[in-house]
Amino acid sequence: MSTSPLLTLLFVSIFSFVQSISKYRVLSIVPRDEFQLHKLRSLREKFPQDFSDFWLPPSSVNGSTHVMASPGSNLERLLHKWNISYDTMLDDVEKDLISNSLLFKKREIALNGTRLKDDLSVPFGGLPLGVYHGYTAISDSLQRMADSSKGLAKYITIGTTVEGRTIAGLKIGHDDGKKEVFIFDAGIHAREWATVHTALYFINQLLNPAADASVKEYLDKMVIYIIPVANPDGYEYTRIDETNPKFRMWRKNRGRELCSNSVDGEKRCCKGVDLNRNFDFQFGAIGSSRYICSEIYHGPFAFSEPESIALRDLFMSLKGRIRAYITLHAYSQLFIHSYSHRAKAYPREIDDIRQVASHAVKEIEKMYGTKYQFGTGPEIIYGFAGGSTDWATEKIGVKYSYTIELRPLYTAFNGFVMRPSELIPTARETWNGVRVVMDAVLRELPTPLPPSLCVDTQPGCIAWIAASPSLCQTNPASMRRDCAKSCQFC
Ligand SMILES: [Zn+2]
Repeated sequence: MSTSPLLTLLFVSIFSFVQSISKYRVLSIVPRDEFQLHKLRSLREKFPQDFSDFWLPPSSVNGSTHVMASPGSNLERLLHKWNISYDTMLDDVEKDLISNSLLFKKREIALNGTRLKDDLSVPFGGLPLGVYHGYTAISDSLQRMADSSKGLAKYITIGTTVEGRTIAGLKIGHDDGKKEVFIFDAGIHAREWATVHTALYFINQLLNPAADASVKEYLDKMVIYIIPVANPDGYEYTRIDETNPKFRMWRKNRGRELCSNSVDGEKRCCKGVDLNRNFDFQFGAIGSSRYICSEIYHGPFAFSEPESIALRDLFMSLKGRIRAYITLHAYSQLFIHSYSHRAKAYPREIDDIRQVASHAVKEIEKMYGTKYQFGTGPEIIYGFAGGSTDWATEKIGVKYSYTIELRPLYTAFNGFVMRPSELIPTARETWNGVRVVMDAVLRELPTPLPPSLCVDTQPGCIAWIAASPSLCQTNPASMRRDCAKSCQFC
């Protein structure tokens, strides 16, 4: 019996559809109206990450959205139901991950042989740049770099993760207890590997006297904290199998499994909290989710996770001295400043904050032409609440507090997996932007007062400072006027 051509065509189409949904694929969707935008937002907020994993979240009508669907997920059917059209941007994510993994293997072999042209001189104890490293190797290298830094750097631990890993970092610069502080972190979101590499590059710049002539001045006047992997459990989870999207594309921490009814009424159990929604400022508001399986699940309450608590405690212990905080994320090429929880909300010193951001993105562009946008979350991408930078601005009083979303541009089809040849250029141009923020901090350092002005003009200075030890740092202008001697501003 012969099969009709029409029937054959039908079989082929059904076969290829079934085959395609048996793979991880990335869909590109452009919401055409407010209804479609709302539906996509609810998809991100209410559906599990293993159903629809947003690589580029929905931001506006006619703005692109990229979402990865898991094998067997009914995402396309749901989009049809909502009458939302889509294109398949990447039809086999696993294949793409495998080809990237091979590129990295080749590079590792090259690094073990002759030095690559763009390789850098790595400080003693550091790791080769241009490739990724596991958490244990990173943590061990931090210890070695501190040991060999002649006291310039100190190995620090700020807490312990859900799975018992130590969250390690470096404190760089001699600390007299009064110097201004700059904090960097990276890898809060597990899959954003290029951020970890960039933080290691920063450490390289700061510990390698030949790398950057400005570093000496930075370290004479500031103390710099760098936490290169703020979410070590999540990072190691993404490394279990770097060619399997189930692991490689994990975003949250590995917080204990919780169960609740999902949006379809079924009971679901999931692990993990989005740490960058778990900070205690506008917790639970826009751009975060109460659904435990969502990729943006904010946790049961603010600071419910040991990783966010560790960062909180670091900030609290230095409150009054922290002038700048930069958290590295990927991707979209954005320099985001506070506040991001709602539109048109700005901190008091917004003019300076914007000016520094504007200058920083120009410096980034100068190096390789990479174009960044700057602004608040709602201005340039989307609103999100419970993030670390808004909290640092509002609750700790950090003036320059930025979230940097590294390369590539949001239109890239697989931005979380950066090719090895782009790692060092990405870190290098970002350092150029970061130096602008460090320069701003230096420029604003108060000059020491001459001995003739080194007096207390108010009788209560000693008692005030005893009652509130960070008063000199939190209110420098009035304390310079009233209590210069007791604050040791001379
Ligand atoms: Zn991120």
